[in-house]
Amino acid sequence: MSGFEEVNYYFRRAARVMDLSANVEKMLITPYREVKVDVSVTLDSGELGTFIGYRVQHDKSRGPMKGGLRYHPTVDMDEALGLASLMTWKTAVVNLPYGGAKGGIAVDPATLSPRELERLTRRFVEQIHDIIGPHTDIPAPDVNTNAQVMAWIMDEYSKLHGFSPAVVTGKPVDLFGSKGREEATGRGAVFALEEYLKDAGGGEVRGKTFAIQGFGNVGSWAARILHERGGKVLAVSDSQGGVQSPEGLDIPKLVEHVKRTRSVTGFPGSDPISNAELLVLDVDVLVPAALGGVITEANAREVRARVVLEAANAPTTPRADEILTERGVTVLPDIWVNAGGVTVSYFEWAQNIQQFTWEEDKINAELHRHMREAYATLARVVREHRVSFRTAAFIVAIGRVGRATVLRGV
Ligand code: NAD
Repeated sequence: MSGFEEVNYYFRRAARVMDLSANVEKMLITPYREVKVDVSVTLDSGELGTFIGYRVQHDKSRGPMKGGLRYHPTVDMDEALGLASLMTWKTAVVNLPYGGAKGGIAVDPATLSPRELERLTRRFVEQIHDIIGPHTDIPAPDVNTNAQVMAWIMDEYSKLHGFSPAVVTGKPVDLFGSKGREEATGRGAVFALEEYLKDAGGGEVRGKTFAIQGFGNVGSWAARILHERGGKVLAVSDSQGGVQSPEGLDIPKLVEHVKRTRSVTGFPGSDPISNAELLVLDVDVLVPAALGGVITEANAREVRARVVLEAANAPTTPRADEILTERGVTVLPDIWVNAGGVTVSYFEWAQNIQQFTWEEDKINAELHRHMREAYATLARVVREHRVSFRTAAFIVAIGRVGRATVLRGV
């Protein structure tokens, strides 16, 4: 299945429980707009670099469309379609006044100099500026894009449309970004896990063991916050490989090591572990926090964790999701677990529009409230319909988006 088909498979599974009509189903699945643009730039060598950029706007019934920009060789229209539709359901699960979008550029940014990356980003904005905007479509960081990239987007868009900090979120705090945004997705994932553990009689994070795939924004912040709360992170990995320690890794020291060396590999006092081994390590909670499609039919039977906390987008294929559920493994789904990022992006956007700033404790308290309230709704639907958390999340999201669509009129 393609990424978009996977999301639609989950959608249809929930739609069946809701008895949704075929016409409404088709209308909700169909994307609003798909854009593919040429983002050729002159490289430092003087040669022409040719790249393709994508932006998919999936649904706008509940507000401006919202979703990240990914710079990665795997970016294509299908990936953007799948991730954009996930954003529609995600913003609805945590009840934000947004629709869903996603995009990016098919590029390996590690091969570009900072100047080339800036030129590429500005060129992309030139190509899509007329379809994004503070009340239309608001990009944010995703894989291989960060606060600096968001600052370039804001600057380029503002040249064309006047000063517009609210056109993009995840900006540097010194440039109208929000306190707490950088760590929001990791923090939100930990809040999600805590709500589940409390409700399911599973105790607390303290003393539990974790394996985390991906040590970028989401994975490293999840690791830091789990470590602060007494969790034992036994293994982490990145695109270069992984490290493990049976006593638990010293996460603050590992963060310093990554700052120096740009990878978790070679962390003193740890043993190497491959990404494949990490996914099946004997831990309480497995946290995929890198790319999609990593828990598949091929390894789902080997997963030993009792809980999968989906910090990444679409890390579990539908067949793997079924296998895990059959085996009694609880999968806490991406469209709720990693919604902390878009939630604090919403706070950033609201601050930009009001030209007012919030303190970090208010941000974190409001994030906590959104994750807690979403859990209460999901848990009620899980019990009412006897479905998995993922199906419950889709039921809640489809209900909200469907009602907004019908109320607005077709
Ligand atoms: P990032 O670029 O900051 O980090 C990605 C990490 O994954 C890096 O450590 C990288 O080395 C690692 N990685 C890449 N390929 C890998 C591979 N094949 N095996 C193991 N590790 C690999 O990206 P991020 O923002 O942390 O995003 C991670 C995931 O979380 C993505 O699925 C993204 O869509 C999702 N997400 C991000 C946010 C956000 O706010 N940044 C919000 C919601 C969801």
